[in-house]
Amino acid sequence: MTLKDMQPGQSARITAVGGEGALRQHFLDMGVIPGAGITLVKLAPMKDPMEFRLHGYELTLRVADAAHIEAELVDTLEPKNPKVHEKTVHHPGLGEEGKYHLPGSGNPLPEGTKLRFALVGNQNSGKTTLFNQLTGSNQHVGNFPGVTVDRKDGVIRGYSNATITDLPGIYSMSPYTKEEIVSRDFVLKEKPHCIVNIVDVTSIDRSLYLTMQLLELGIPMVVALNMMDEMKSNGGSVDINSMEAMLGVPVVPISAAKNQGVDELIEHAMHVAMFQEGPLEQDFCGPDDNGGAVHRCLHAVIHLIDDHAKTAGIPVRFAASKIIGGDMLILDQLKLDTNEQELLDHIVIQMENERGLDRHAAIADMRYAYITSVTANCVTKPHESEEHIRSQKLDKVLTGRFTAIPMFILIMGLVFFLTFFLIGPFLQDLLATGIGALQELVGKAMVAGNVNHAVQSLVNEGIFEGVGSVLSFMPIIVTMFLFLSLLEDSGYIARVAFVMDKILRKIGLSGRSIVPMLIGFGCTVPAVMSTRTLPSERDRKMTILLTPFMSCTAKLPIYSFFVTFFFPKAGWLVITALYLIGIITGILVALIFRKTLFKGEPVPFVMELPNYRMPQMKNVRHLLWDKTKDFIHRAFSVILLATIVVWFLKSFDFHFNMVTSSHDSILATIAGLLVPVMRPIGLGDWRLITSLVSGFLAKEGVVSMMGILFASEGGAAAVVTPLVAAGMLVFSLIYTPCVAAVASVRRELGRGWAISMVVWQCSVAWILALVVRLVGRLVGLA
Ligand code: GDP
Ligand code: MG
Repeated sequence: MTLKDMQPGQSARITAVGGEGALRQHFLDMGVIPGAGITLVKLAPMKDPMEFRLHGYELTLRVADAAHIEAELVDTLEPKNPKVHEKTVHHPGLGEEGKYHLPGSGNPLPEGTKLRFALVGNQNSGKTTLFNQLTGSNQHVGNFPGVTVDRKDGVIRGYSNATITDLPGIYSMSPYTKEEIVSRDFVLKEKPHCIVNIVDVTSIDRSLYLTMQLLELGIPMVVALNMMDEMKSNGGSVDINSMEAMLGVPVVPISAAKNQGVDELIEHAMHVAMFQEGPLEQDFCGPDDNGGAVHRCLHAVIHLIDDHAKTAGIPVRFAASKIIGGDMLILDQLKLDTNEQELLDHIVIQMENERGLDRHAAIADMRYAYITSVTANCVTKPHESEEHIRSQKLDKVLTGRFTAIPMFILIMGLVFFLTFFLIGPFLQDLLATGIGALQELVGKAMVAGNVNHAVQSLVNEGIFEGVGSVLSFMPIIVTMFLFLSLLEDSGYIARVAFVMDKILRKIGLSGRSIVPMLIGFGCTVPAVMSTRTLPSERDRKMTILLTPFMSCTAKLPIYSFFVTFFFPKAGWLVITALYLIGIITGILVALIFRKTLFKGEPVPFVMELPNYRMPQMKNVRHLLWDKTKDFIHRAFSVILLATIVVWFLKSFDFHFNMVTSSHDSILATIAGLLVPVMRPIGLGDWRLITSLVSGFLAKEGVVSMMGILFASEGGAAAVVTPLVAAGMLVFSLIYTPCVAAVASVRRELGRGWAISMVVWQCSVAWILALVVRLVGRLVGLA
């Protein structure tokens, strides 16, 4: 039978892993290997994907992928008694008997060397939390696999000559997604002086799989056992000394979140880096493990490629295990000649025959065999952790068969309600009152001081109307981010991906794409960035092109402006409708993409479901502060500049005389060029066009611009009709994302895609606005 045939609650032992290519390798790297015990936890509400538990953590698999993995049902999953390697090597302890390293074994770097550290570990193991502790920085932390999408450097507090790099999470040194390549390349090419390998003790088996590969690199390394707080409170413990002996590197138990053990960790790291103490143990293939076939094969290959590996600058043990495991990238770099290549193939085939497993599985199995002996020797597994029991209880409701989708709608509804109706507006009113009072004060002062008329106009119409009105939206935007980050930090967003996978597959995407989409409701820029965690180019491109349809918070000022003036009675209805129009258009566009640009299948859905965790106040505080700072910065740079430029263009004519009516201004003339394009959809007024154009700099700018341009006519409400307002709303919803978002698309997909996106979004917006105009006329809107 295969995993697909299991019933919830049943356990099985894996007998063979089918499938092929990168996906199969990824299965193996995640611990889906022959011999591993696995339990089916549940099916997603739509019966696909499936949630399994293995090696002490939760993994999602689609039914179609599970069908490739063969298994035999078992009653209980008693661990097979692993054969323990009887080998102890003593890693020099730090400061024992005043010795900092074994005499003679040290190879100290010259005084004053700038030390470089790399922070490497699985996704969601606490790397960023540790990075923030070490550097005092405040990078974004989240309880979702794949939050760190790019590397970040920082100076370690108290060690001004040492920098540490936070890398995206990886499960193996065989890259599967784009961000994994970032991490692998950093370690292989930039050769840090020391690797800080962060291991999540609560799923130690899987975490050590990466550790095994890192040790093969021979780079000085320290293992940080993170989440010790959780482990201890559930009765688990680790025999640190014997683990150090088995791994041959210093092992330091820490809790990054509680800042425990971090100082000791960094002392050890500085020490091994300074004295370049490499791992004492690299030989993890037991001579009598399953007849020793893998062991003999590895050592044969090591001898075979020794010189090539040296020339290519790749650690030889690492290169050997990678090419036996079928890593073509490494094989190419080694440049073996035909003879050696044939010899290699023969050695591998011999091993496969003797071992009875193919090359990929054999290597993965060898690593897991050693890990099993390490954990059997050194780790007292905790009783089922409270966090896990709590997670399962929560999951009964949040991913339950009948409750999952209602809960999702309820939670998102609550988020929007709180943001837009309760907390946001309250704070907004406060801020708006404050800004209004200031404006009056300044206005009076200017009149009293007899300040130049042009300056008065600039301050009043330019700065206060422009920047001030935008600034008052800050509370709503920050509140939205607060809720999205709380959801993400708690671990809920990962569940949403699990629940929504099947639906998203219908439009050609996988569950993982839900994350960028939800972030897109906050801001398109981080949404586009977060697509890097998607394992296929096709999904990445498609997701990026769809994020602009998720209405971002910066468009809210526009909605609220028009709604207040033109549809005051149906305000919430109109705004909800706008969000829905965005989503529905996105779905339609996705269906078109699927049939045209992006044929093919969405990526497999192999993802870890982390335990729910209480979001940490510190992280939330940092995030809020970051967003606020970011927003204020934008308001006083881009938006201020844009308002001043526009104020100038609309106040002066081509002879630089101040105009009495802005109809004669420079701006009117320039915007006039676009009038023919916009007239058919009812937006032919040059002032509306100018506002939309300035919205390209920042969406919030549309409102401030209208404030300025319509100021002399008693505000936009006096000139614009409800029908035009409806057109403006829909057009602003869909038309080109702001320049920051387009820039991030360019960074991800290149200039061609970025330009096409601008044109495409504007065209879709134009068509929709036309539809709105025609429908509006039919229903008698004037
Ligand atoms: P990364 O993906 O490896 O960068 O992991 P993060 O730093 O984003 O952390 C992932 C999750 O683990 C977050 O919810 C953190 O709050 C949580 N976390 C990190 N360190 C610890 C720790 O020492 N103990 C506990 N209980 N949770 C932690
Ligand atoms: Mg991170």
